[in-house]
Amino acid sequence: MLKGKKAVITGGTSGIGKEIANVFAAQGADVIVFGTNAQRAQQIVQELKQLYPSQEFSYELLDVSKINEVEKALNDVLEKWNSIDVLVNNAGITKDNLLIRMKEDEWDQVISVNLKSVYNTCRVLARSMMKAKAGTIINITSVIGLTGNAGQVNYAASKSGMIGFTKSLAKELASRGVRVNCIAPGYIDTPMTTGLPEKVKESILSSIPMNRMGEPKEIANAALFLASDLSKYITGQVLTVDGGMVM
Ligand code: NAD
Repeated sequence: MLKGKKAVITGGTSGIGKEIANVFAAQGADVIVFGTNAQRAQQIVQELKQLYPSQEFSYELLDVSKINEVEKALNDVLEKWNSIDVLVNNAGITKDNLLIRMKEDEWDQVISVNLKSVYNTCRVLARSMMKAKAGTIINITSVIGLTGNAGQVNYAASKSGMIGFTKSLAKELASRGVRVNCIAPGYIDTPMTTGLPEKVKESILSSIPMNRMGEPKEIANAALFLASDLSKYITGQVLTVDGGMVM
């Protein structure tokens, strides 16, 4: 479904991003992952090269919240590949606290990594995708961006911000053949959620009609749909993948 397509996936060395890289590769895409951890990045690139030797895989180590690092990396990729067909803004962090206890740094870091990063990548790639009159951007938001959550004003604001950003950019780019969509995962089994206290996990599970956590692959399959021509008349949307948690 993605044969010959070139994809960049931020935070593609762990959890959901890693699975998106796996699924895109299995469908024929060349993939570059952006991440912060050299060991994990090397490992995934090595695994993919072994599985799909005729395709291209590499990684860039950078902090997605730093505009200079992102611009340099994407311009290097564009020099090599000429164009990028699929961008997945997946990198994200949490720094949970009640607002009255939340430090400025906890606010700033979450907004920078989760939201400013999307501006950083899209500003470079929107131009090249417009020129190519093709491309699809997938922003990984969260159900928390739709519902809010006590203890997560920073995370919820960043994820709601991604949704507003996505809808606005979709309107800017639709006539140029570029689609921009969000996926809002629910409660997914990744390193981000493994550390949650048991009580919190139980309470989240009780709010999921399907009564289980989602698997990273279930988000990756939604990303494949949005990256492929199967969704070619879909833009500016939020695809919620959450076992029925938010309806
Ligand atoms: P994860 O912690 O396994 O993955 C996050 C990735 O982002 C990691 O690869 C990490 O290295 C990368 N990253 C973090 N800060 C970065 C930075 N400054 N620069 C570059 N890369 C950076 O967690 P995950 O669950 O796979 O999360 C992926 C995305 O899905 C996140 O945006 C998260 O908010 C979202 N999400 C996750 C869940 C869930 O239940 N796991 C639910 C809703 C949304």
